[in-house]
Parts: sequence; C-alpha cells; structure tokens
Amino acid sequence: MKQRQVDFLERRSLPDTRHPPEGRPSPSWLTSWLESPDVFLLLYCRPGFEAECTAEIQAKARAQGISGYGKTTLGSGEVRFHADPVSGLARLLSGLEFAELCFSRQWVVAREIPPLLSQDRVSGLIAELGERAVGGFFLETLDTAAGKLLAPLCRQLEPHLRRALEQRGQLRADRPGLPRWHLCFLSSTHVCLGFSDPANAAPWPMGFPRLKRPPRAPSRSGLKLDEAFLSFLSPAELTERLQPGMQAVDLGAAPGGWSWQLTRRGLWVTAIDNGPLAPELLATGRVRHLQVDGFRYRPPRQVDWLVCDIVEQPERIARLMAHWFVQGWCRNAIFNLKLPMRKRYEEVQRCRAIILDQLPPRAYRLRLRHLYHDREEVSGYLSRLEQAPASRS
Ligand code: SAM
Repeated sequence: MKQRQVDFLERRSLPDTRHPPEGRPSPSWLTSWLESPDVFLLLYCRPGFEAECTAEIQAKARAQGISGYGKTTLGSGEVRFHADPVSGLARLLSGLEFAELCFSRQWVVAREIPPLLSQDRVSGLIAELGERAVGGFFLETLDTAAGKLLAPLCRQLEPHLRRALEQRGQLRADRPGLPRWHLCFLSSTHVCLGFSDPANAAPWPMGFPRLKRPPRAPSRSGLKLDEAFLSFLSPAELTERLQPGMQAVDLGAAPGGWSWQLTRRGLWVTAIDNGPLAPELLATGRVRHLQVDGFRYRPPRQVDWLVCDIVEQPERIARLMAHWFVQGWCRNAIFNLKLPMRKRYEEVQRCRAIILDQLPPRAYRLRLRHLYHDREEVSGYLSRLEQAPASRS
C-alpha cells in the first residue's frame, strides 16, 4: 500500500511537457478486460460540457495515433470513447496522464452489463466481477438529476457489496497494482461496470471531492480554490508548497472567499480589488487590502502564491499569469479562466498555448481542469518545477 501511494504522488507530480509521456506497460487486469470487444472508455464530465470532453479525448487519442470516436448526448454527463481496435484503449491509458485532461472528471474502462435483478443486485455484480480482486470500489452515478435520485440506492448497496467482496477475499487494499472497481448506475438495474488505475485516475467517487462551505467563509467561491488545491496538488505537495507563514497575492479578491481559504491555511495575503472585503476576512489580521488594478499591480518581492479570480477575457488572464512567472514574481499560481464563449475547448487550448509559449519548455507545470465548483469556467495551476532555471526577479 505504501509503495502504491508513493507511485501515485510521483505520477501526480509529472511535468506538463506538451509531449506524450513514455508509455507504461499495461497491467494484466486491463489486458484481460479489453478482451471483451464492447469495452469503451467512460468519461464523466459536467452536464453541458460533453462536446468539450469528447473533443479533448479524441484529440489526445489522435495525438497518439489511436483511432476511435467519442459518443455522447448533451446533458448526459458522460462520454464514451470507443477505440478501434479496442486494444487501442490500453495504449491510450498507458501513454496519457489523467491529470492532463481538463474536461473529464474521471475515466473508467467500462462496459454495460445486462440488467440486474432488482431483488438481488449484489449477486449480479459479483458474477460480473468473476474471480478478479480489486483494491477498492466506487458505487457511482452520473452528475445529472436522474443520477441524484440513484444516490440513495448506491449508499444502500455499498455495505452489502463490501461484505460480499470481503467474504470472497476479493477486496485487497493491501495489494498494490490492483485496479479500482467502478459501478456506475444509469438506472436502478442498469449499470456500467469497469476499472480504473488508482495511480492514474481521480481519487474520489464520481471524480470530485465533496466539500462543504465552512460556516464563516465570506463566499461560496472559496470552494473553487479549496477544490483546486486538492485536485492539482498531491497531499505531499500540499504540505510542502502551502505552508503557514507563506506570502500570497489574490487578484480580484472581493468579497474574499479565496483570501479566506489562504488565511485559514496560515498564509499572509495581499488582496487586490476595488471592491470591499468581508469584515470577517479583515478581522483575521492576515490580509492587506489594496484598491488597485490587478493588471497593474507589481509585488515588491517574489511571493509563494498568486491566485486570480478576476472576471476578464481568458486570454488576458493567461497572459497575466505567464507574465508573473516570466518576471519571477511568484512560485505557484491558481487562476480561473471564464468561458462564456461557444468554443470553450478551443479557448482553453488557446490559453494553454499562450502561457506555455512564454515559458521555457519543461521548466513549468501547467494543469487546466474543469472543477466541480467551476461553472462556465476552468481552473488552472501553474508552477515552476524545482530544477527550473531561475527567472528574472
Ligand atoms: N474570488 C473572490 C471571492 O472568493 O470572493 C470572487 C472574485 S469575483 C468573481 C471577481 C472580482 O474581480 C470582483 O470583485 C471584481 O471587483 C474584481 N475585478 C475585476 N476586474 C479587476 C481588476 N482589473 N483588478 C482587480 N480586481 C478586479
């Protein structure tokens, strides 16, 4: 288990190089699962973003020379990528880091199984699993109104399925290299069943962490930053890169949800916004409020963190982020790109290129991700890799 966790952290720390990573060998569970010709790659996404999710996975497959096509329905919250031949999925998964995808919340190598008997779903599921052992399992639904209605059924089934797996010795959290089993309920008897590699997939059921707005937080918007920290940084990176006493700048800070997230982690914050900050944020004593333009502000010295939630053209924000790193004004940044336009996938790709074109290759990590708390927007994380050459300061 220890080795598994280390492996997971290392994969999460890989730099974004704009080149496909070295292919990893396919695990045996994947090779045997792909013997079934009706297997596809099931991707979860926010309902309404299926076109972006499809365009992205098709582009990634094309870049690796894998033929296939994505199938989806608007509002379904899912995309199915069919590789032709199906073995192409093994190459796709071994050559692609899940963290490189922006619009997918999770990916599962899945297939639809025959309808379950409503009087005994567990036996039907166990029969489909066969003799395979798994490291864990997620009972899931799609993020739709119909999916929400199925959540109580998943909660009800969970302990029964766990007991059945434990009795058969098939739930082996102690054995590294085992896949995670996903059971995605499309209706009360209709299930997509499949596997993911925990070292190369989102670690949460349905692909996102459940976060609650803390009672004293000035705005709901702070949940975006909270989720961004959890999604972009491994637990080890969070401990190392987000330490009490560090300095942060928050551009577009009012009313203060993001600054509040930083202060509650012990950081000192310079909050930039012409608008007023919430009194409970100022009462922390950790925030200096400057009523200046975020595009003109220059920090007196390098800060550990830049965060930016200014509502502006995404291209302008992308240029601003790159500029801060070129100037050496910050070491890490989390920012939000608003996407009110129709061509959202293309716009994200354009912003990615704008940022990377201004920075030396392989010296920075850039991740862009459509978080659960993002609506018509995506979040970004940019950081200088430790071995990167020093920027001008
Ligand atoms: N992150 C904030 C929170 O958690 O409370 C919400 C930020 S809100 C979405 C966007 C903010 O950007 C607004 O308060 C607005 O005043 C500010 N803003 C817009 N243009 C700006 C600029 N050029 N410089 C600084 N702030 C700006």
